[in-house]
Amino acid sequence: MPALNPSLANHQPNAMFRLGALAYGRDDLIHLEFGEPGFPTPPHIASAAVASIAGERQGYGPGNGPQWLRGAIADRVARVDGFQPDAGDVVVTAGGTGALMAALLCLCVPGDEVLIPDPGWPGYEGMLAAAGARPVRYPLLPERGWQPDPAALDDLVGPRTRVLLVNSPSNPGGAVFTRATLEGLVACARRHDLWVLSDECYDELIFSGAHVSAAALTDEPRVVTVGTCSKSYAMTGWRVGWAVAPHALAGPLGVVVSAQVNNLPLLALRAAEAALTGPQECVATMRDAYRARRDLALDSLRARGLADFTPQGAFYLLVDLARAANWPADAGAFPSIPFAEALLAERGVVVAPGASFGERIPGHARVSLAGDPDALRAGLERMLDFAAGWRPSA
Ligand code: PLP
Repeated sequence: MPALNPSLANHQPNAMFRLGALAYGRDDLIHLEFGEPGFPTPPHIASAAVASIAGERQGYGPGNGPQWLRGAIADRVARVDGFQPDAGDVVVTAGGTGALMAALLCLCVPGDEVLIPDPGWPGYEGMLAAAGARPVRYPLLPERGWQPDPAALDDLVGPRTRVLLVNSPSNPGGAVFTRATLEGLVACARRHDLWVLSDECYDELIFSGAHVSAAALTDEPRVVTVGTCSKSYAMTGWRVGWAVAPHALAGPLGVVVSAQVNNLPLLALRAAEAALTGPQECVATMRDAYRARRDLALDSLRARGLADFTPQGAFYLLVDLARAANWPADAGAFPSIPFAEALLAERGVVVAPGASFGERIPGHARVSLAGDPDALRAGLERMLDFAAGWRPSA
């Protein structure tokens, strides 16, 4: 067989995605593994797609997205993220995923390095492998409420570093970075002449604190902002997101989107238009429900002395399994991947093992707060009971 691209041939599938694929479609399991909103897409959004199928030709369209949607996204970014982009600098993408991937392909050549958060969303790893870029992890610190110390990043920058990837509100930590943290990160990028790739997919899912967008902190052409309809509008499967980029980058981003998908389906774009321009009460209603789910999950943790941090945004909770299992301090890291496999097989609960988020939380699990509250409570209790008696088989 001819050789494969080595950065993909040697890439190990991430444990969270592997477990998710194993559990996909199984109604007999409690699903706490993904950020999958436990709400249907609001009816006025779904109806716009139905009307599009009935009334419009589902044909090809511009690779960077139709002007009417780019304008709606620019207005929404102004409303939520605090800066007014030109609609010409907005590119419509296949979810936030498509925007992050397109940006990495535009900003990196193989062998370049990208600073990513640890713990951080596992999706970044596959994107970097596809771009041939190398992840360099920078720590998010529990003692800082899962925010980074921007001053600590200087030492991680090398001659091949091109991009500083920032994610606030953050997955899995649930931190909403302060203005000072973000200013520090943007200053670090300026010092080393790096791009800032700002993943703001949870910008409307904030329980306390306020969202600060990196792009609102500087006029320099340095920041690419990524957003999505997936999380705030319960539209994960519709695959509509966006990138907002400095003017010179918008064209290349459109080239990548055209090269990958040509254009997104018109019915999904009409649904996104309805989401962004229609009534916004649904966003607040779902956010309030996620907050209540966070609080009930924290109650379960508190009863066992395990509630360390109250997530301020996104919809995830990190659980210290090592503590839940009374894991001996001299036994090395609690093995969260074998634990998550055993939990699925023996107790029918699916969670994301901490080891899938980088190197810093091998003994944690991430639990999604987005789904049904009864399932959340039951799944969490089952996981904690199981952890208390679990030891890996020799
Ligand atoms: N960024 C983060 C931090 C995420 O958690 C996710 C999805 O879980 C995404 C980006 C991608 O979301 P989507 O492609 O559905 O917009």
